[in-house]
Amino acid sequence: MAQVSINIATGTIQQAELIIGIDLGTTNSLIAYINAQQQAEVINDMGKGVLVPSIVHFHPSGELIVGNEAKQYLIADPANTIFSVKRLLGQSYKDIQSYEGYFGYKIIDDDDQAMLKVKVGDRFYSPIELSSFILKELKLRAEHALKTPVNKVVITVPAYFNDAQRQATRDAGKLAGLDVLRIINEPTAASLAFGIGLDPNEEKTIAVYDLGGGTFDISILKIQQGIFEVLATNGDTFLGGDDFDALILQYWLKELKLDPAAVYANQNLMQSLRLAAEEAKIALSTQSIFNTTVQGMPCGIMRSTYEAMIQPLIQKTIDCCQNALNDAGLSIKDIDQVVLVGGSTRTPILKQALQAFFDQALNDHQNPDEVVALGAAIQADILAGNRKDILLLDVTPLSLGIETMGGLMDVIIPRNAKIPTKAGRQYTTSIDGQVNMKISVYQGERDLVSENRKLAEFELRGIPAMPAGFPKVDINFMLNADGMLKVQAKELRSNTQQEIIITPTYGLTDEQVEKMLLDSMVHAKEDVAKRMIIEATREGEQMRYTIESFLKKHGQLLSEAEINQTNDLLHALNHQLASGDKDQILTAIDAINEFTRPFAERVMDQAISVAMKGKSIE
Ligand code: ADP
Ligand code: MG
Repeated sequence: MAQVSINIATGTIQQAELIIGIDLGTTNSLIAYINAQQQAEVINDMGKGVLVPSIVHFHPSGELIVGNEAKQYLIADPANTIFSVKRLLGQSYKDIQSYEGYFGYKIIDDDDQAMLKVKVGDRFYSPIELSSFILKELKLRAEHALKTPVNKVVITVPAYFNDAQRQATRDAGKLAGLDVLRIINEPTAASLAFGIGLDPNEEKTIAVYDLGGGTFDISILKIQQGIFEVLATNGDTFLGGDDFDALILQYWLKELKLDPAAVYANQNLMQSLRLAAEEAKIALSTQSIFNTTVQGMPCGIMRSTYEAMIQPLIQKTIDCCQNALNDAGLSIKDIDQVVLVGGSTRTPILKQALQAFFDQALNDHQNPDEVVALGAAIQADILAGNRKDILLLDVTPLSLGIETMGGLMDVIIPRNAKIPTKAGRQYTTSIDGQVNMKISVYQGERDLVSENRKLAEFELRGIPAMPAGFPKVDINFMLNADGMLKVQAKELRSNTQQEIIITPTYGLTDEQVEKMLLDSMVHAKEDVAKRMIIEATREGEQMRYTIESFLKKHGQLLSEAEINQTNDLLHALNHQLASGDKDQILTAIDAINEFTRPFAERVMDQAISVAMKGKSIE
């Protein structure tokens, strides 16, 4: 049964959009969708299995092989077989330099600042292109299995991914011909798949423990009113099920008295042993002993032996959990649920250790390889508008605003605002005949823009010359669900407009955000004092400008004594402006204001008498 919906305004029946969820993993990738029974379901195309190994092999025939069939070339032809491309997304050579040896293929190092590239044969590929090959395969499988075109997707990324990595993921989707509606955090997706966060009235703090093939992540999430806030993340980007396999392999080499160097040189034997080690590991999750033969050699291992071997690795993950809790300022009793994600969490001894650490039963009710993809499908379904009751929101971590006169921060979207959001304010010019207006966009909590982070700057040009204060310039901030900020400036009298798009979180780590917030609290008092001085100065300068223009234009209406007195008062104001004493500046402004107020009436009277003589005024 296909889903249909009726557009109440037009009465037309619309086929509900199919949006699929993609877990683009380091080891394995998966696709999921919401089936006719309204259940999230992973796609298993042609019985190839739900897990699509995230491996791309460039075959000498020119064929591109992705997934299971590519896996066998990992050892047979490492130079042309790309694995773990997710580790390279949005990275420069400098970022990955320290572990370059991990990759069996060639990474280009001639420019260590720019986005890195991979060399295959005589061609260069960006990680974005390589990821797009995996995404294309996923798209193909989904279309084949569901017998319908698939264009719109939600893709998951680790919570710690920075903006360059998120943007790279998005670009990979685009390159694969997909419309990436949303990039969401893996722990958020997992939590949705467990049904946590679907009820807007629910308030929970959960720990998402994700142990995959090559990476370990622990995320502490706070969920309230459908908002998923990442309180802390921790982990080890080089710790996962592959390390468990490696330990079994080493054990066998020792047991069989094989020379490791000789085995590493024999790619065929090496690969067979590696696959057998993984098989052993998986078997030991349910059995107490495992036995097989690899090229005639008996390979066996007891569960107890294996468990003792991996104990230190398990302890390492628990230390990360403790660190994450510390960073979030929480203790285990604050955690309402511990959710398990990643194939390696099927290991019973690991579960026991975790249960003991968190002192509570674990939530392992979902298939750990599938949860992230299933959650992405649920998010996709929400975006498709099929779950009107749920609104998934994120919040902006820092305030966004523009610089106003005197270098002050004028906040337009306050921190913690739910996104997507839109806000705006009207500004005007401060100088007669001003035709350009510089708009500088900042992020942060401090009163002075110099203490905040500058995001962008642009100029609204071509404002028709008008007296100061006449132009009406609307500045609008639109922050979309992906955290892209569109800033639009429009002069309403002339319709002149200009806009830019920026990504506020680009390159900001959680620690930096935290520091910015902390700084704003520490400096709150002095910031207010500085703001008051700047505002007084601004008012004083504005007053000086008005009076000086008045003297130029209408000086003939004043007596010489009045002009002298005005100049003296201006002098005093200038002096106070230079001194920077807020109260003195305000007193000087008051004095000049008081003295010159009657002058305005004379201008009015003169204007009237001129008008009565039938002359037009300029
Ligand atoms: P990733 O998120 O890195 O793409 P996955 O979540 O798919 O990875 O996890 C893959 C890892 O899970 C592999 O190391 C695999 O051997 C391991 N794994 C799968 N099933 C089991 C099991 N029953 N017992 C232990 N480990 C398992
Ligand atoms: Mg994963």
